[in-house]
Amino acid sequence: MIIRRIVICSRPVSACLQNARTFSNHKIAPRIAVVGSGPAGMFTCTSLLRKSPAHIDVFEYSPVPYGLVRYGVAPDHQEVKNCINGFDKLFVNHSDRIKLFCNVKVGQDVAFDELVSNYDAIVLAYGSYRQRKLQTPGDKSTNVVSGSDFVAWYNGVPNSKAPLLDNSEAVIIGNGNVALDCARIISLGVLGKLNETDVPLERLKLLENAAINRIKIVGRRGPLDVSFTIKELREQFRVEGWQSYIEAAAREELEPEKWPAGIERKHQRLFELLRKHVLGSGPTDDKQCEFLFRRVSKEIKADENGRVKELIVENTRTKQREAFPCGLLIYCLGYESMVLDGVPKNDKVTCILRKRVNMSCFEGTIAMSDYWRVSMPSACSTRVYATGWCAHGPQGVIVQTQQQSAAVAETISTDLEQIQLQEQKPGVADLLKSRSVRYISWEKWKQIDEAEKERGKLQGKVREKFTAFDQFVSDKSPVN
Ligand SMILES: Cc1cc2nc3c(=O)[nH]c(=O)nc-3n(C[C@H](O)[C@H](O)[C@H](O)COP(=O)(O)OP(=O)(O)OC[C@H]3O[C@@H](n4cnc5c(N)ncnc54)[C@H](O)[C@@H]3O)c2cc1C
Repeated sequence: MIIRRIVICSRPVSACLQNARTFSNHKIAPRIAVVGSGPAGMFTCTSLLRKSPAHIDVFEYSPVPYGLVRYGVAPDHQEVKNCINGFDKLFVNHSDRIKLFCNVKVGQDVAFDELVSNYDAIVLAYGSYRQRKLQTPGDKSTNVVSGSDFVAWYNGVPNSKAPLLDNSEAVIIGNGNVALDCARIISLGVLGKLNETDVPLERLKLLENAAINRIKIVGRRGPLDVSFTIKELREQFRVEGWQSYIEAAAREELEPEKWPAGIERKHQRLFELLRKHVLGSGPTDDKQCEFLFRRVSKEIKADENGRVKELIVENTRTKQREAFPCGLLIYCLGYESMVLDGVPKNDKVTCILRKRVNMSCFEGTIAMSDYWRVSMPSACSTRVYATGWCAHGPQGVIVQTQQQSAAVAETISTDLEQIQLQEQKPGVADLLKSRSVRYISWEKWKQIDEAEKERGKLQGKVREKFTAFDQFVSDKSPVN
């Protein structure tokens, strides 16, 4: 490609000059593969398209893009999902430089090594979607579901198994925001308060007809150890028609003199909120959501049909066993990091060596040489980077992912500046076609997107999601 010297830019001149300098060093435009179209991948693309003349191919396992923004963030948080408008604009404003390949699983439809051979740089941004297991005897009982499966179900992920919602009691294990999301979606759903959101109609109906009127949110540690954020916690306390409260036994632990010294203001506010909602007199509403602490799961008991009927816990304050009846048990214990086949992985020995020189290292995670760069063999000329949940663990909100991704893009464009590329790398579009991989392009996604919004409008909803995409990928030739 010819050197791009002219940069049309509406930002201050100094920023344009900086970009112009960056662009001018490249004789050949680098070709970059981004694995994953969640916030990490898309925010990296946003910065890369500004900072370098790179051509980018984004590969996404799902038939539709944007990761947990579409399939994780709760349906009553539509304002958070608005970031997809910015992602969509990238494909409009830079249609000559960025291409989307949905329905393509790296590691299955195309190998990581094939990306290495066909790109100058690779950004791993494939998130971390595998839920940690409960590992309590009886956890295979019917209607014991992971938070990630429950979230996927109400968010319309294709082929999600519907939970049974016909029992009045539900227990949610976990003290993080995913537990709160699950509780809130049940609480709002049974009251018919999600009708305007993007929960698919048939799933909305199941929620609306649910018999659940008691939810217990159970944590193994104390009330000062919760990982809730104040916004999500407040939302649960504010669901009208539900009485949400903290068990009376937590009152003493929540007294300010018990708070750790020097805690941040945000924690003080969180503890205040918990304290304010400790149950005073007895429960009043018929729909109740109770927060219980210091309960360790010991056993799940099933009925004669193999369906969960009780969670047995040990109360670590009293050392007594307690039984919580439930027809639905959701466990929200966080997500596990995963490493794609072919990507260098930290093994036990590496971790021991790294820790000796005070470097952090977790076995089974992507082997990084620093915060952004993946530790590739020295003979490999392709640069590999990782960002977002797959790189730094499954925690943090979208804004944090955005900050990381801006920084990784800066690193990539600086690194690529140092190399004189010898040839234009081909990418793998032809390879996918030769394998008849039915990928969904951005143009096809836009058709899906428009159709979903149109279907939604007819129902007075933000969108009516498709929960099957066969009709969009059934052509003989790849959809592009
Ligand atoms: C239930 C839940 C609710 C949340 N709610 C909020 C909220 O309200 N506000 C907020 O700010 N943050 C929220 N978050 C956090 C937020 O979703 C994450 O910070 C963010 O999505 C992480 O971005 P990511 O790109 O690393 O991962 P992801 O969003 O998971 O994106 C990774 C993408 O990679 C794709 N992928 C995986 N494997 C492959 C492969 N082999 N080949 C190709 N593609 C692949 C996945 O399909 C996915 O689309 C929530 C998280 C969860 C789990």
